[in-house]
Amino acid sequence: VSERRLGLFGGTFDPIHYGHMAIARFVKNAVELESVCLITAARPPHKGESGHAGATDRHRMVELAAEGDPSLIPTDLELRRTGPSYTVDTVRAFRRHEPEARLFFVVGGDTIDELPSWYRLEEIVRLVQVVTVTRPGSPDRYDPDRCGGLAPEIVGRLNRFVLTMPPRHESSTEVRRRIARGEPFEHLVPPAVAAYIRKRGLYRAPSSGVDSRIP
Ligand code: ATP
Repeated sequence: VSERRLGLFGGTFDPIHYGHMAIARFVKNAVELESVCLITAARPPHKGESGHAGATDRHRMVELAAEGDPSLIPTDLELRRTGPSYTVDTVRAFRRHEPEARLFFVVGGDTIDELPSWYRLEEIVRLVQVVTVTRPGSPDRYDPDRCGGLAPEIVGRLNRFVLTMPPRHESSTEVRRRIARGEPFEHLVPPAVAAYIRKRGLYRAPSSGVDSRIP
């Protein structure tokens, strides 16, 4: 019996875009995963509320984007948790639920500078293989000199799974910025996500809908 190989791909997904979809599919093929769980993150407290979507809307858009691809599995595990959400808790939950599977935790290259400071990183890298995909403008390897305190074998383990991906220039920030300015954004997200954003009026400038002539 061959082992199950599962990808865990977390994001704020505010909103999910074609770059995210490309990452999920690229890693699935490159690492030969059975499926990839798309894990909608509870909003980190430092991301302000204005101009952002709530968790329910963000997760709904993940579901819409995954529709029609049974290998993408939307997961609201982190949203159902109260209190601060740590990656290590998510990883432990998957480990418990899938004790026999090989788990691959997917991050983009912009995470390279942040990962060394993640809570309980050593436990995370014991429980899963972290897979990093390159992102334009971000470092393409973990630099031992900038991973202060991380054991060299951990840095080595992280670097072994840095995958060079055909560059994707989408970002959620860019999608939100375009919508706030009334610019086209439909080429950056799946059609069902674009329709949902329009229907719900997400990411429009705070003044939209208000008569701007009133001081
Ligand atoms: P924001 O612009 O709001 O920071 P984002 O586009 O980075 O959002 P997230 O939901 O924060 O989207 O990203 C989830 C994961 O996907 C992160 O690990 C991030 O590094 C990765 N990611 C997102 N877009 C890309 C991209 N274009 N190329 C590579 N990795 C990406």
